Amino acid sequence: MVDITERKEAERGVRENEARFRTLTALSSDWYWEQDAQFRFVRLEGNLDERVGRSLEAPPGKTHWDTPAQNLSAQDWERHRAQLNAHQQFRDFEICRVDEEQHVRWIAISGTPIVDERGEFGGYRGVGRDITAQKQAAEKIHQLAYFDALTGLPNRRRLMEQLRRSLMVKARSHRHGAVLFIDLDNFKSLNDTQGHDIGDSLLKQVALRLSACVRELDTVARLGGDEFVVVLDELGGELVSAAAQAEVVGQKILLALNQPYDLAGREHRSTPSIGVTLFGASAHNVDDLLKQADLAMYQAKSAGRNTLRFFDVGMQASVDRRVAMEADLRIALARRELMLHYQPVVRSDGSVTGAEALARWWPPLRSPIAPGEFIPLAEASGLILPLGQWVLETACAQLAAWSDQAALGQLTLAVNVSAHQFREPDFVAQVLQALARSGAKPGLLKLELTESLLAHNVEDIIAKMTALKGHGIGFSLDDFGTGYSSLAYLKRLPLDQIKIDQSFVRDVLTDPNDAAIARTIVALGESLGLEVIAEGVETDGQRLFLASQGCHTYQGYLFSPALPIAEFDAFVALRQAAATRRLQ
Ligand code: C2E
Ligand code: CA
Ligand code: CA
Repeated sequence: MVDITERKEAERGVRENEARFRTLTALSSDWYWEQDAQFRFVRLEGNLDERVGRSLEAPPGKTHWDTPAQNLSAQDWERHRAQLNAHQQFRDFEICRVDEEQHVRWIAISGTPIVDERGEFGGYRGVGRDITAQKQAAEKIHQLAYFDALTGLPNRRRLMEQLRRSLMVKARSHRHGAVLFIDLDNFKSLNDTQGHDIGDSLLKQVALRLSACVRELDTVARLGGDEFVVVLDELGGELVSAAAQAEVVGQKILLALNQPYDLAGREHRSTPSIGVTLFGASAHNVDDLLKQADLAMYQAKSAGRNTLRFFDVGMQASVDRRVAMEADLRIALARRELMLHYQPVVRSDGSVTGAEALARWWPPLRSPIAPGEFIPLAEASGLILPLGQWVLETACAQLAAWSDQAALGQLTLAVNVSAHQFREPDFVAQVLQALARSGAKPGLLKLELTESLLAHNVEDIIAKMTALKGHGIGFSLDDFGTGYSSLAYLKRLPLDQIKIDQSFVRDVLTDPNDAAIARTIVALGESLGLEVIAEGVETDGQRLFLASQGCHTYQGYLFSPALPIAEFDAFVALRQAAATRRLQ
């Protein structure tokens, strides 16, 4: 006979505990779970309906990380696993999953390790909670706090935060950004006469058009009323070039907001006034920046509205000059006011082997404008395409004109091709057409490319080069050493020639570093089977040094600057006469 009172008591205790536990889980909105020592789910009960349970928590026998979560990366799971492996307790680990009805659901789980009386680890137990509503509320609050309810654009608070962050980055990166302050002209009278619904409708359409004018990384915000701010975040290059880019976007916005609006079936016209200020390396604070842009906007208003003004007077002047020059260049191109000059390419023995065609612009009644000024302008405005086309055609016509003259018939002609032009899908066809129309020999045409071209889509570049090469056209890599061409690319490009940049040639006798660069480029050219040419050779000393290093082809003022065609032809004739005399 055995007394089992104690055992019965214990059993009753277990039953009571179990009942207590079930009541609690039934009453609470949480659920209870258990995992085995491998973190696989073995038990899941409580207040989570079938559908949610299956899609949010892991199915039996699976771990949490067997099913991906929207909010957790591989590293996040790794961190969580490390915590579990260390048998640590965790609280409110948040997991976001999409349930079977494609609704986004959030759960938070907390867990604690199960350890038996012998101290053996047996898995985890814990609770889970559906926090979707809570997350949605937080999201809603965020939306209300940071976005404008009417247009959905970031509001002033968010703009300020973003600007502050952007300023910090700019201070480190030495890049520029721009703030455009946009105010609609006469908005108040529309609102007063037509009512707020009509006004709201206009604001919404303006918001859409502004967003369409900028890139993904830029910000369009609504400050309130009819005031909008656009932040252009990544403007490349120098301050003046950044200003020019901001100007381009500003003009685009002006144009877009000038298009007619449909307000409740009626056509409406509206114009904006825009103030622009730039920010970058020099420290600014966000309030000052907005004040500057606001001030510039008022200048735009007082200049007659529907226009754009820069905060900085110097900036405004330089942008004005640029705009005027661009218009002039457009006209000059149409009127064929540009010219090509030809700089002789000379070999060690004094013979002229060819020329480089260089564009010249001399506007009537004004002083000439250097290519260093108008070529970048043409590139920024897209005018480089017609300009480049014109250069190609003129150069090919020149080659054809030389072809039946004994002294000139064998000369090669190098043409500078800007990256923009080379990337045109029909570039290969353009070159072939120019050659065919003129009757010039493809083997005498050389295209000069710069390393900046290699920054994007090298495969496409190689394909185009190979196609042209197939027709006999030659290639030279200009300004070599100043860009970022890697050796790997250099080997794959079907080049014939590299040009040592004139900045190295200039100091080749005084700067040991430049001398070493020149020497290395020559060696590199030799090992790759490329001809090496030095540009900007101004003194005999430079020429002798280059020759001693194995570079025997030159361009530079030592021989001749770029010349008008008649003078160039005469230069070649003179050189050839001298050579003939030497031979006799
Ligand atoms: P680049 O291709 O490097 O052209 C060489 C520049 O060096 C030319 O300046 C030339 O006049 C100058 N130069 C020649 N010999 C000497 C010298 O001994 N010493 C010095 N200090 N300079 C010398 P330019 O004509 O002012 O052209 C400047 C740049 O404009 C060119 O540099 C080229 O990048 C661009 N460019 C000129 N014409 C065209 C063109 O038709 N198309 C394109 N895409 N770019 C062009
Ligand atoms: Ca060149
Ligand atoms: Ca060059």
